[in-house]
Amino acid sequence: MDLITVRTFQNFISAHIALTKLRSEGIECYLKDENLNTLLPNVFGGIKLMVKNDDVSKVIGLLNQFDEDYRSNAVCPKCGSHNIELVPKPNAKSMISAILSWLFLANLVPSENIYRCSNCGYESNTLPETVNANTDFSSTESNN
Ligand SMILES: [Zn+2]
Repeated sequence: MDLITVRTFQNFISAHIALTKLRSEGIECYLKDENLNTLLPNVFGGIKLMVKNDDVSKVIGLLNQFDEDYRSNAVCPKCGSHNIELVPKPNAKSMISAILSWLFLANLVPSENIYRCSNCGYESNTLPETVNANTDFSSTESNN
């Protein structure tokens, strides 16, 4: 069976969300280098989402659709960017609890995570829901 890498993720939460969604669509898929990248992100080039050769074009379509759904709900309140990512809090203790939650499959999205704008670095505990692109930056210093 030929497996192709269709996408690379920098954090296991995003990878698992994609994996779960694809499997719910009946796609056979796997994560590669998951453990290495959970411990040492950026060293191993990310977590690779692998699917069967025959499913590649279908999976890419589905992933794009997931992205679209996700982004349509998330807008950075600071810069208006749609590049919002769910990432583990950059803090060793939180990271460990996130890994433990993941290992025991208690919750794929543990509470020790933040949403971060990859454009300006804005961080929030909740997914920003504002869709107002004309946010007045100076009046919204909150969530820190
Ligand atoms: Zn931003």
